[in-house]
Amino acid sequence: MKHIPRKRFGQNFLTDGGIIDAIVRAIAPEAGQPMVEIGPGLMALTQPLVERLGRLTVIELDRDLALRLKLRPDLDVVESDVLKVDFRALAQRLGVPRLRVVGNLPYNISSPILFHLLEQVDVIQDQHFMLQKEVIDRMVAKPATAAYGRLTVMLQWRYAMQDVLFVPPGSFNPPPKVDSAVVRMLPRAQPAELDAKLLEELVQVAFSQRRKILRNTLGRWLEGKGFEGEFDLQRRAEEVSVAEYEALAAAIKQK
Ligand code: SAM
Repeated sequence: MKHIPRKRFGQNFLTDGGIIDAIVRAIAPEAGQPMVEIGPGLMALTQPLVERLGRLTVIELDRDLALRLKLRPDLDVVESDVLKVDFRALAQRLGVPRLRVVGNLPYNISSPILFHLLEQVDVIQDQHFMLQKEVIDRMVAKPATAAYGRLTVMLQWRYAMQDVLFVPPGSFNPPPKVDSAVVRMLPRAQPAELDAKLLEELVQVAFSQRRKILRNTLGRWLEGKGFEGEFDLQRRAEEVSVAEYEALAAAIKQK
């Protein structure tokens, strides 16, 4: 039966064979690797992936699509909202320390998915995601650029990231209104003792008024935390590197 794309599930199905090939090449799946695909949909990526892997775990929220996927003996189907999936439990069930995670994500919840995985990064081998190009630009941004912001810092402190492929709207059915791209995310070695919640708060305060210098925002907050170290507050949030934000969060924690 023909599936009618559902907007509320962010359904834009990949149809361009050349792009599908390029994404699978970027992922480079090998037989036996433990991989999880978020939002398999009509299996545009699923099929070439499972051909190479042998088995694949897929997480799909749409009941009708999950029903079709369950007919495939080579797929382990988790019918669920990915934001409720416990990836640690999934790794344990598969008997592996780390998972490879891939997907052409539903764009309406792409940031919540990225943060959900960030919390469980200890069981992640790598991630390859199709996202809005604009979101990937922010993820891989360099300091002192307009795209550099909270998302940049919160992800770059835990992942090395690379924009690996541009994907135009015409590659999907229906075509989304925006350009897309594929990002590769490799977890960095666990940085020195650092409280992720504290870093999150710090970064939120810093970027709360991104056009202003940091003295009145971050400066006040640091004062409240009793910070007495050296830090140049005559800058704007976007001029501070990820390493400096990390060092600041670590310094406060040590106090
Ligand atoms: N992988 C397919 C492709 O590339 O053609 C479909 C990609 S489509 C952009 C996003 C997929 O994620 C859809 O299959 C949709 O039903 C599914 N989805 C949407 N929200 C979800 C959620 N919260 N949890 C799991 N899957 C979800």
